[in-house]
Amino acid sequence: MQVITAIDKMRSYVEEAKSRGKKIGLVPTMGCFHQGHLSLIEKAGTSTDTTIVSIFVNPAQFGPDEDYLAYPRDVEQDRLKAARAGVDVIFAPGLSEMYPESYLTYVNVEMITGVLCGKARPGHFKGVATVCAKLFNIIKPDIAFFGQKDAQQTIVVKRMVKDLNMDVEIEVLPIVREKDGLAMSSRNKYLNTVQRKDALVLYQALTKAKDMIKSGERNAGMIIGCTKQIMDKAGLKIDYISIVNARQLNSLEVISGEVLIALAVWVGRARLIDNIIVNTEVNTMGHEL
Ligand code: AMP
Repeated sequence: MQVITAIDKMRSYVEEAKSRGKKIGLVPTMGCFHQGHLSLIEKAGTSTDTTIVSIFVNPAQFGPDEDYLAYPRDVEQDRLKAARAGVDVIFAPGLSEMYPESYLTYVNVEMITGVLCGKARPGHFKGVATVCAKLFNIIKPDIAFFGQKDAQQTIVVKRMVKDLNMDVEIEVLPIVREKDGLAMSSRNKYLNTVQRKDALVLYQALTKAKDMIKSGERNAGMIIGCTKQIMDKAGLKIDYISIVNARQLNSLEVISGEVLIALAVWVGRARLIDNIIVNTEVNTMGHEL
């Protein structure tokens, strides 16, 4: 496994691999690997010939009062885990390599970035879209792999790729959870023992919402009210809980079709996100479509 930090070296590596007919898979990450990252890496390994994992804590997607400096970093462990998982290259550019002093250009996907996490974190998705566009331009992957954990991110990136005619396929993989249901996240490292228990409420609330829909409840306000009660009982500070159309992200009053139930909650200093997709439409066999 190679670790490449320079953009021109990364480009020549890819050019050479492509000249040998290799299909390139990219897994963009901010590092501090857990099983969620590794599931993307494993899929890249089986779907493509060359797996490149980028590690870059992207300042452009953090607000001024957010945890850019505190964000967990563990380069040595990442290197070991990546090598064990069969990664061909870690691309770990430095800050000035990605954003030299003269830097001026950003990618802005409109509308769908103004809701959910985009509402709470203005500018976040501009940073995400920009860094993904840069990585796609540098690495020219055939497939880029993303996790459903960051549901809005997958929709924003897919939209950017479509609108800007980028030649990359976006593959989205399911959320990997701890045995007790907590979605894996690098930010779970911020939690102490009590907070780790409190954090279980996120998945419990989502499961409750899903069960309500499955039992026929279609009033989004009612469901949100119930999930809020669960959070309040646990004393957690809610950033948002929303039920939106799973593709356009527009807010729904009456639930129909494929819906995304997404939430962001503060547990101590960790802002945790989680989501679940529920399809209200059933086929003649009674299964979700
Ligand atoms: P991050 O390093 O947090 O920016 O995440 C890098 C990629 O891993 C993103 O596409 C995330 O959606 C994905 N990811 C993070 N956590 C999980 C998880 N628990 N399950 C699946 N994918 C995840």
